[in-house]
Amino acid sequence: MTPSFSSYLVNEPFGDPGLYVEIKWARRALLFDLGHNDALGPTRLLRAGEIFVSHTHMDHFIGFDKILRIALGRGKTLRLFGPPGLIANVTGKLRGYTWNLVDGYPLTIEVREFHPHEIRSATFLASESFEPREAPPRSRHALSPFPVLEDPMFTVRAIALNHRIPSFGYVLQEQCHINVNKEKLRAAGLPVGSWLKDLKQLIWQGQPDDFRFTATLYFEHRREEREFQLGEVRDRFVTITRGQKIAYVVDARYDEENEAKIVDLARGADVFYCEAPYLERDADKARERYHLTARQAGLMAAKADVRQLVVFHFSPRYTGQGEMIVQEAMQAFEGRQ
Ligand SMILES: [Zn+2]
Ligand SMILES: [Zn+2]
Repeated sequence: MTPSFSSYLVNEPFGDPGLYVEIKWARRALLFDLGHNDALGPTRLLRAGEIFVSHTHMDHFIGFDKILRIALGRGKTLRLFGPPGLIANVTGKLRGYTWNLVDGYPLTIEVREFHPHEIRSATFLASESFEPREAPPRSRHALSPFPVLEDPMFTVRAIALNHRIPSFGYVLQEQCHINVNKEKLRAAGLPVGSWLKDLKQLIWQGQPDDFRFTATLYFEHRREEREFQLGEVRDRFVTITRGQKIAYVVDARYDEENEAKIVDLARGADVFYCEAPYLERDADKARERYHLTARQAGLMAAKADVRQLVVFHFSPRYTGQGEMIVQEAMQAFEGRQ
C-alpha cells in the first residue's frame, strides 16, 4: 500500500527546524515552519502552498523571504497559519522591501493567526503593494487540539505550547487512507489515470453509495466516457484503511501542562517529529530556555504510543555529538531508562 504522505526534515538536525510533507499524487505539499529552506529548492518550495508556523523566533521564520521571492511573479496563493502576532510579522517582513513595480504580479498571501478565542486573518496582494487587508475576526473552535486547516483529505490541528510565548505544535491527520487495487482494475479491463484521483475525492467528500459520476478513461488508442456508481466501484477496487498521522513539536518547555498537550497531540502518530535541543544532563538549561531534552522527547513519544520518533533541532553546543542525542531519546522511547 502506498502511503499518501511522505514527510522529511528540511535540514539536518543541527540546522534550522522544518518539516516538509508531500501529498503523493496531488502535486501538493505542506510545510511546517519557515527556517532556512534553501535545501528544498524552488520546485518543492513552490509546491508548498500551505505553511504552518510554530512561532516566529528567527530560526523558524527567516525562510519567509526565500519562499516570497520564489512565489513572487507566479499565479499563486500562499497560506500561512500560526500563533498571535503572525500578521504583524508578515506585515513587517513585507514592509522591508519596495514594491513599486509589482502591480501586475498575481501573488496573494493569506495569513491566519489563532488566538485563544478567535481567528484573525489578513490578505496581502502584490497588486496592492502588499498592504494588509484585515478581515473581521471569527470565533475559534474550543476543541483541543483545534482545527487549523480542514481539507477533504486531511485535517491539520494545533495546540499552543508554553515557550514563554505560544509555540504551536501541529498534527496532520489523513481522514482515511484510500488505496486502489490496480491489479483488480486491470483484470476488469479498466485503465489507471486521473479518474482515480476524482474517485478518491468523491470518497473523501463522503458522497453516498448511489452517487453516479462520469469518468474519462484513457485506453491505449482511445478515450471513453463511462458512468459509474460510487459504491460499486469502491467495493470492487478500493480498500479503505486508517489514515496516516504525523505530529510536529518544537520549542516547548517540559512541564505538566505542555506534556499533557503534547502526548495528546501525538497520540498514535505514525511519525512524531519532536525537538530535542538538549541532553538530559543539561535539563536545567533546557528549562531556562523553554526547550525539551532528548530524554523528555523520548518519554513523551513512549507515552503517546507513536510508531516512530524523529528528533531534531539540536543545539550547536553538541556539534559532533548528534548520535548521543538520538541515543538518549531512543532509549527513553524504548523504555530502556
Ligand atoms: Zn523559539
Ligand atoms: Zn527554535
